[in-house]
Formats: sequence, structure tokens, C-alpha cells
Amino acid sequence: MTKPQAFTGELARRLSEIREAGLYRELRQVDSPQSHLLVIDGREYLNFSSNDYLGLANDSRLKEAAIQAIEKFGVGSGASRLISGSLAPLHELEASLAGFKNAERALTFSSGYATALGVIATLVAKDDIIVIDKLAHACIVDAARLSGAALRVFAHNDLNDLEDILKWADRRGTKGSASRRPQTLIVTESVFSMDGDHAPLRELVELKERYGAWLMVDEAHATGIYGPRRQGLAEELGVSDRVEIQMGTLGKALGTVGGFICGSSALVECLINRARSFIFSTAPAPALAAASMAAVTFVQSSAGESRRQKLWVRVKQLSEAATRWLPSAPGVPSGSGRNLSPAKLSARAQGNSAIIPIVIGDESEAMKLSAALRAEGIYIPAVRYPAVGRGRARLRVTLTASHTAEDVSRLLQAAANLNFQI
Ligand SMILES: *Cc1c(COP(=O)(O)O)cnc(C)c1O
Repeated sequence: MTKPQAFTGELARRLSEIREAGLYRELRQVDSPQSHLLVIDGREYLNFSSNDYLGLANDSRLKEAAIQAIEKFGVGSGASRLISGSLAPLHELEASLAGFKNAERALTFSSGYATALGVIATLVAKDDIIVIDKLAHACIVDAARLSGAALRVFAHNDLNDLEDILKWADRRGTKGSASRRPQTLIVTESVFSMDGDHAPLRELVELKERYGAWLMVDEAHATGIYGPRRQGLAEELGVSDRVEIQMGTLGKALGTVGGFICGSSALVECLINRARSFIFSTAPAPALAAASMAAVTFVQSSAGESRRQKLWVRVKQLSEAATRWLPSAPGVPSGSGRNLSPAKLSARAQGNSAIIPIVIGDESEAMKLSAALRAEGIYIPAVRYPAVGRGRARLRVTLTASHTAEDVSRLLQAAANLNFQI
């Protein structure tokens, strides 16, 4: 039997390893709602770290919907939806999501993480092949491993690399003696969570169709802010109806918590029968479903469109300031920009993402810069391994529709004071 001291000692050793690598994390208590401002230890900070792109997390419409649902349905959901019955607000939310995304059906999960886990492990198994982008979110990587399918990773947004893998999968498929031909599933994000760049969805759709693969697109950072009807990047690029599995989260632009899938009825029925993170987990709270439904209704309204426009005005304000810095002429302070590829700099200058990574590289340097910004009243935590690669630490600036022009100016001023480039 191990002694308790031995256990604690071992954990202390691991923690000091984490500290030495500049990767130690701790929780900071926030005493205010999530908005463009945060109150921490009695001090107010400008928040440039949240994914609440449309400023809905503390919206009165969502709060009112949640309160009404609590009055009517209570707080808890009792059990899994297959056990104690499936509460009405979840059905209403799913009908609303399917309508919003122009899909036959939708299914919600308790989180985006649980969505990826349940869906991917339902669709592929041992003998199948899963192909994911190098920068895909941890939930996709974990789900791919859990599924037991052969995992292949293609270089970030690299269609040639992907095609080589699909050719390999094709050869493998024709050789196998299995009763069923192995299925290949490609999974990517549409807007990448830590870099803010976009996947070439049109070309991905062409490729997967040529090779008979299925495509799952995680629109966590695109739902609500891209596309004519704000459905996401697949809509913007005109390929929504060619993507078999459309994933989204409720916790980003939609301002609540949860994850969802949109697709065919057959897909949703399979998930209800097989997705373990759906079956073996208590249903999402009815109040949360009601608030999410209010968010989906809002996003589809003209107020949703003007809210989205407000976000892009802020993004433009920041990207234009960044463009002025751009010609990396002598005299431009070294800092963030030095590790950016020209492609990334130009993506930033285009101003088509609310996620603006300031890549620092060294983990401890990123921590120092984050602390210096905090001293200036600006809250941007350093994102480090394993959220990004080792030596790719960054400040991940996110803009939301609730930021004011003044907020963005203050960020730019703080950057100038600290002599780094956004
Ligand atoms: C946030 C995120 C998820 C996970 O969603 P949660 O609802 O936070 O669990 C999945 N995929 C991507 C790309 C994300 O950024």
C-alpha cells in the first residue's frame, strides 16, 4: 500500500515539473458576470479573453428565458433523456437549432467536448480511419483516440497532405477482407480556436466527395458570426448541405453552455442510440436549453445581424491598427509579430476573425506579458501547451460585440506602452 505522503510527494514533484516548464495554471475567481469587463479581487479589467462573441452571456433576454424555464420546469433534469423522459425545452431548442441551420434534425449535448466524444466514437471504430487537422481541438483528438479508428493527422489546412492520406486510406480499403469497407471520417474546425484562421471548406468538401469520406466540421467559433444567416463558415462558403456532420457549441457566440450536432434524421437517431456521452449523462438543464433557444432566436433576428455587424466593426478597428504596424520596417518594436508567418499577418490584416493570436513563443515570456497587461487593467491569459504546441505560447485576444471603440483603443494603447505589436 502506498503511504499518503508518497502520493502527495509524487503530485508535488509533478507540479514542480509543470511550474518549471512555465505551464502552471491556476483559477482566478471572477466576481462579475462575463462581459467585456471582469471584476477580479475588487479590480475591474477589460476582458479580451472570452468567446462570448455576440455579448449574449449576460443578456437580459437569455436570463429571462432561463428564469421562466426554471419556474416551469425546475432546476434539475432528473436523469439521462432516455431514462426519465426528455424535457420539452430541449426538444424546442433542437427544433430551433435545426431550423436555424437548415438541417433535418439537431441533437444537443451537455458540452461541445461531450458532443465530439459521442459523435466521433459513434461514427467510426476499429478498422475505420479518422483524419484530423493538426490544429484540431483537444476534444477532437481525444474522441479520435477513444473511437479506436486508425488516426491520421494532416498538416494544418494542407490539402495535399490530406489527399495523400485519403489515397492511402483508399488503398487500404480495397485490400481489407472486412465484411464492411472501412469508412474514413475527416474532422476539422471551420475557424481555428487558437489561431483564428479558416479551413478551406470548399476544397475539403470536394476532396471528401472524391474519396467517399465523410466530413465533420466543428463550427464552435463560427456559429452565429459567419454566413448570410449567421449559420457559420460552411454557410458562408456555400457548402453546408454537403457536410455530413455539422457540430456547434452553445458556449461561444450563443452565450450559454452546451454542444450540438445538426444533420440528417438518420444521424441524430444513430446518436440517440449509440453516443455514449449522450446516453450516459444527465440531460442538460431545462433553463439552459431555454436560454440557448432565446439565443438562437436572437441570432436569427435583425437585432442578431446588427449585433454581428458590431463585432466586425471592432475587428476592423483592431486589424486596421495592426495593418499600420505591418510593414515590418526597421523601428517596429519586436514582439508579437516576429513569429507570425506572412500568411498569418495578412489573414489578420484582412480582419476576418474575432480571434487574434499574438504568438510569443516562450511560455514564461507569454506569462510575463500577460501579467504586464493585467497591471494595465487588461485581462488576456497566456495560452500555452497543451492548448497550443510547445514553444507556441501566445496571448489570444478575442473581440466581442460588447467591446466599445474605447475598449479597443485602450488595448492598443496598452500594447504600445508595453512595446509589443498586435
Ligand atoms: C470550445 C471548443 C469545443 C468544446 O466546446 P465546450 O462546449 O466548451 O465543451 C469544441 N471545439 C472547439 C473548436 C472549441 O473551441
